Amino acid sequence: MICGKCNVQLEEQQTVFEYLGHELTYPVLRCPVCGQAFVPEELVRGKIHEVESMLEEK
Ligand SMILES: [Zn+2]
Repeated sequence: MICGKCNVQLEEQQTVFEYLGHELTYPVLRCPVCGQAFVPEELVRGKIHEVESMLEEK
C-alpha cells in the first residue's frame, strides 16, 4: 500500500490502542512521512470485541 498524499510505501508499525482502560498493541500500516495510519475498521472492531468478551468472562 502507498500513501496517497506522500506517495511513499506504508510501513507496518506497532500501534497502541486504548479501549476501556485496556491497551491493545496491534501492527497497523502507517505512512512514515505524514504518520497517517490505515487501520481497517473491522480489525479494530474485532479487537474491541475480544476485550469485551474477556471482560464478560471475569
Ligand atoms: Zn503520507
